[in-house]
Amino acid sequence: MHYFTPKRCASSRKIIYHDKAQAERAARQGLIERGAELWVYRCEYCGGWHLTHHDPKEEHLLRGMGAQATRQGKPRSRKRGFKPRRR
Ligand SMILES: [Zn+2]
Repeated sequence: MHYFTPKRCASSRKIIYHDKAQAERAARQGLIERGAELWVYRCEYCGGWHLTHHDPKEEHLLRGMGAQATRQGKPRSRKRGFKPRRR
């Protein structure tokens, strides 16, 4: 019996693809078989390639917006020890 058992990443638990072409082929197959749009990205933990359901560019954009929102929510204009001078 011939059965392909893919290696999985210890960090993300995702299937490891050894090169980008292999991952892209799997992504295309996922789109055809399940209609799932998948993105290929390089993993910094295992050095292989993984598939993700999220657009890495979009994810980055969302994270950037969240950081900006928390910075704006913090009040910075605290006037301590400031006494207005009278003329
Ligand atoms: Zn990995």
